[in-house]
Amino acid sequence: TPSIERKPEWLKIKLANGDSYKELKNMMRTKTLHTVCEEAKCPNIHECWANRTATFMILGDICTRACRFCAVKTGLPTELDLQEPERVAEAAEQMGLRHVVVTSVARDDLKDGGASIFAATIRALRARLPLSGVEVLIPDFQGDEEALRTVLEAKPNILNHNVETVERLSDKVRAKAKYGRSLELLERSKRIAPDIPTKSSIMLGVGETWDEILRTMDDLRAINCDIMTIGQYLQPSPQHLPVTTYYTPEQFAELKAEGMKRGFSHVESGPLVRSSYHAHDQVKSAQQS
Ligand code: SF4
Ligand code: SF4
Repeated sequence: TPSIERKPEWLKIKLANGDSYKELKNMMRTKTLHTVCEEAKCPNIHECWANRTATFMILGDICTRACRFCAVKTGLPTELDLQEPERVAEAAEQMGLRHVVVTSVARDDLKDGGASIFAATIRALRARLPLSGVEVLIPDFQGDEEALRTVLEAKPNILNHNVETVERLSDKVRAKAKYGRSLELLERSKRIAPDIPTKSSIMLGVGETWDEILRTMDDLRAINCDIMTIGQYLQPSPQHLPVTTYYTPEQFAELKAEGMKRGFSHVESGPLVRSSYHAHDQVKSAQQS
């Protein structure tokens, strides 16, 4: 059985206080926008923002689901804000972002799950930042293929949807999502828009076995998923799922090698890796492959 020790050394965060980080932080204060970077207290915020990458959360900050690893508030979401796409694009332009990730809470209360707002946000970003990469990290839209189509028609540079964990633990970790439905979404995306790279992510340390991680890689490669990210789960509060294991940097490196062997164009694997970490480099390697 895996042992839990105190948080290992490699998870301690090095803080840099670069000018571009501060600049962006001040700007976020002046707009009514949410970034995952800030809300999830992402350990990479200094590095990402200094590299002009940020992740915006659209469609509000209250989720209709309650996954057991996630710190986002659960409840009845606020009214839809139709100005949001434009405000995200404006902020991204002012921040001079080179890679913009757009994600959302799950809006199971909306007919299209928010897909049209995703599409409008991609278009607004394209208009203001024609040279920047736009990645969407979408919810499963409850399996609605039309909703997925709506997003793909706006042509994001990367279509990202996370399986989050291995098949066996899926029901426990993210109650209203389904492993098979997530794979189906990624598979459909490849079918509808073969030129748009797909990407998925899992977090480790919720009770999975090594073999199950490898099997997840195989499942993703079987549907031609291009990019995979693997990171360490950290418990956001004592009410959330406990951490079962802290994987070592060497184990993460081994998993990266396993992934590359299986044919992903890019694998980002490390204790502090998050879904959008080094996202800018991933567009490049997906385009080269
Ligand atoms: Fe933001 Fe993602 Fe970077 Fe974290 S990894 S700081 S969420 S862009
Ligand atoms: Fe968090 Fe997404 Fe689950 Fe909502 S659906 S609780 S935002 S992980």
